[in-house]
Amino acid sequence: MEKAPVIIVGAGLAGSLMAIYLAKKGLLVEIFESRPDMRATEISAGRSINLALSDRGILALEEVGVIDKVMAEAVKMPGRMLHAKDGALKFAPYGKDSSQYINSISRGGLNQLLMTEAESYQNVSIHFNQKCVDVNFETSSIIVEDYETQQQRTVQGCTIIGGDGANSAVRNAMENQMDGYQSSVDWLEHGYKELSIPPMENATFALEKNALHIWPRGNYMLIALPNADGSFTCTLFFPHTGPVSFESLDTPQKVQAFFEEQFGDAVPYLVNLQEEFANNPVGKLGTLKCYPWIHSEKAVLIGDAAHAVVPFYGQGMNASFEDCRILNACIDEHGVGNWSAAYNAYQQLRKVNGDAIGDLAVENFYEMRDHVANPIFRKKRTLEHLLENTYEDYHSKYSLVTFQPQIPYSIAKNLGNQQDALLMKLCKEVTQIEDLDLATVYAQLKALKDELPLQK
Ligand code: FAD
Repeated sequence: MEKAPVIIVGAGLAGSLMAIYLAKKGLLVEIFESRPDMRATEISAGRSINLALSDRGILALEEVGVIDKVMAEAVKMPGRMLHAKDGALKFAPYGKDSSQYINSISRGGLNQLLMTEAESYQNVSIHFNQKCVDVNFETSSIIVEDYETQQQRTVQGCTIIGGDGANSAVRNAMENQMDGYQSSVDWLEHGYKELSIPPMENATFALEKNALHIWPRGNYMLIALPNADGSFTCTLFFPHTGPVSFESLDTPQKVQAFFEEQFGDAVPYLVNLQEEFANNPVGKLGTLKCYPWIHSEKAVLIGDAAHAVVPFYGQGMNASFEDCRILNACIDEHGVGNWSAAYNAYQQLRKVNGDAIGDLAVENFYEMRDHVANPIFRKKRTLEHLLENTYEDYHSKYSLVTFQPQIPYSIAKNLGNQQDALLMKLCKEVTQIEDLDLATVYAQLKALKDELPLQK
């Protein structure tokens, strides 16, 4: 057994979960986290207050035995509630029926739960206010800076896991020290701002509780996810600049007029709109791709550090948890201490899937933006729904990504896009879907489906 600890940089969602996986193997784990302990201080966990947890993330949380605690605080969302400009509502299920749903969970609550769970193992410790500023890959050590004293020290490990998010210091060190390192970020022209709908009297919900609410408006949209306490966290996805943008809404009057015109039915519930719009920051949205994700046996990247994605498939955290599950399986397969073999196997399995979910999330942004109001697209959604309810083994692209964790993202992307192209073509050719022979459509879809390699 290794004597020096496994160093994990970042006690976020991925870092804390990975610590639990490693703790179960009896490994000594030391986590270095740049922020203070959010369980002791009143800080938000960072970006976005709640997140959609779905089957890929659930699988990993089940594996480490924390899923029941997580689900106790979750709110089920079996579909989207679409809000038209005139206030008309339309519920669109995510899966074939209400047995398929995604879950709204508190980011901070989940992060705290995972940290507490990790610390319940004697072989795990989390060091807060300790920012990793550099990595020495030759010696498997990191340099950390104490937030208060700004003193730097070197910490020696047996290997280093970079779970330090989109601006990863571990990835930056790889980029600085490895010849030919590839790294790119594609920024969207849209950013996001969080707003909130507080609970009504007696902690009741102002809007339908069990739905992800969307106000799609072409080039921009507002969404709202329920929280267990009766509130909703809303996110406005909106261009940074241009005629209708964060930049253009530069007075309280313009903000009010814009919201009343576009999101009229939400305005009575957005009771702190002016204050929140003025004070909450505008977040940037980008897709990060990099290669390699590993430095021989010395270091490996997990989560957003390896593949930050835009949030339009609700998969960033789920993909990060899937990284942890697969990395754990690779360590099991190659044996503790055989880091190089495990990391290579992990990279081989995950890089292609990290790229795929990055692409899928951007594609979904344009789909939501451009297609939701398109009648052929709506016809296609109805057809997909009919197929899912008729044929057990047919899964729409959304279902492949969200509800089929045994299918890797890269396959979900390829198969899903082929299915979409076929269904859009068929829907264009007919005036109503009843004109299509469902069995023939199913046969054509089945022909697209090659043998799917199952994911570990
Ligand atoms: P993080 O959560 O960013 O954690 C990184 C940790 O490392 C942090 O604690 C940070 O303080 C620490 N750290 C950073 N630098 C250092 C350093 N130098 N030294 C020490 N510690 C450091 N995903 C979903 O699955 N579903 C959703 O619905 C969803 N919605 C989203 C909505 C928005 C608006 C955004 C922006 C993202 C959303 N995501 C969603 C994505 C999700 O938030 C991320 O994919 C997830 O947080 C990644 O986890 P992580 O642990 O890799 O990174």
